[in-house]
Amino acid sequence: MTDITAILQEIVTEIEPLRSVGATASYIPFLQRVDPNKFGMCVRSLEGEEFTVGDCDEPFSIQSIVKVLSVAMARGVMGEELWQRVGIEPSGNAFNSIIQLEIEKGVPRNPLINAGAIVVCDVLLEKVSDVEKRFIEFVRALAGNPNIDYNLEIAESEASVGYLNKAIGNMLKYYGTLKGDVDRVLDFYFKQCSICMNCRDLAQAFSHFANHNEAFSFGGVELTRSGVKRLNAIMQTCGFYNGAGEYSYRVGLPGKSGVGGGIAAICPNRYSVAVWSPRLDSKGNSVMGLKALELLTTKTSVSIF
Ligand code: GLU
Repeated sequence: MTDITAILQEIVTEIEPLRSVGATASYIPFLQRVDPNKFGMCVRSLEGEEFTVGDCDEPFSIQSIVKVLSVAMARGVMGEELWQRVGIEPSGNAFNSIIQLEIEKGVPRNPLINAGAIVVCDVLLEKVSDVEKRFIEFVRALAGNPNIDYNLEIAESEASVGYLNKAIGNMLKYYGTLKGDVDRVLDFYFKQCSICMNCRDLAQAFSHFANHNEAFSFGGVELTRSGVKRLNAIMQTCGFYNGAGEYSYRVGLPGKSGVGGGIAAICPNRYSVAVWSPRLDSKGNSVMGLKALELLTTKTSVSIF
């Protein structure tokens, strides 16, 4: 991959006017306290070269980005049967919407919205013994960092105000989509969202999705080449909630955002990229993060389209 250090510097200059646009995720007390002015970015080539800028070594709460890793584990464990429990269609609704779930009788549209991710947690609890340990080992192995962990302070902070996710869990239980105990499933869900990683960790973890040519096996989880390809398709269509169309139009890479302000994305067979900036737009996506990715694909003239 050609050296893109100069491009990253240009991106930092060009996103500067957006520095005070948007707000941190105020509905989770811990996230409201994060310094909103952080910005970090790491691009990692398939060969393992890293190009970084800003606060790329500072860990942050990855929140919904974890949904990709969790569905990867569930797909590895269950194969195509997984899609009998959760769909693969974009929702066009907010990440925490409950309306569609009732209309569609408790089957979530996809695994990257909250309802779908809660079902994925239920599947993992049902199929994998000692699941919290196995899951974090999987994440560590993907990222090549043995120090990555759940952050129980963040998990408790979210659980203390997690009324909507609890309502979603209860509705899933009512319709029979969720098999396990609602509180137990939500406890695992909040723990997953609390995991802290930095941009380098995320870029390395997602580099395995950028490599279409190889099946992967990490922490006891195996995904075939076809499985990797299909998860990338779900990232492309569902990774940004009701902002998925705008993201595809502006950036053009399969990716996933989180309300911690992170975005991880991949350019198939070329590179993975992670960006972090805590101020979010009204749809829960990082304002500077989106702009930085848009500039990256524009300036390098490389995207999947
Ligand atoms: N833990 C967050 C929630 O459930 C994740 C949302 C996100 O990052 O989009 O509300």
